[in-house]
Amino acid sequence: MTEDRPSLQELTKRLLEFRDARDWRQFHSLKDLVLSLNLEASELLELTQWKSEAEFESEAESEAMRRRLAEECSDVLLYLLLIAERIGLDIQVAASQKIAANEVKYPVSRARGKATKYTKL
Ligand SMILES: [Mg+2]
Repeated sequence: MTEDRPSLQELTKRLLEFRDARDWRQFHSLKDLVLSLNLEASELLELTQWKSEAEFESEAESEAMRRRLAEECSDVLLYLLLIAERIGLDIQVAASQKIAANEVKYPVSRARGKATKYTKL
């Protein structure tokens, strides 16, 4: 991959270098990484606060909101990569397997056009 579009492995390597250069590994317990991931997801959620669906969809097209979305989505991804690294998880393989499992749980023939949980299909 190019420097501008690094792979998840390259991002993880750079992230660990960033962490270790600052001696922050000592603060990154697995529990606090999970907590931080959820705090960052909440910052993403906060962007929607007090807005209708239509208002948020419209705002998401603005340069300012696109930048805020990029920041918070990135924060979520970076904590997810730290968690995956900590537990020795190949997140790309795991995510691919999860999609495959969802394809079985939600067959197109029964799930198409429905927002119904798989247990009720
Ligand atoms: Mg953030």
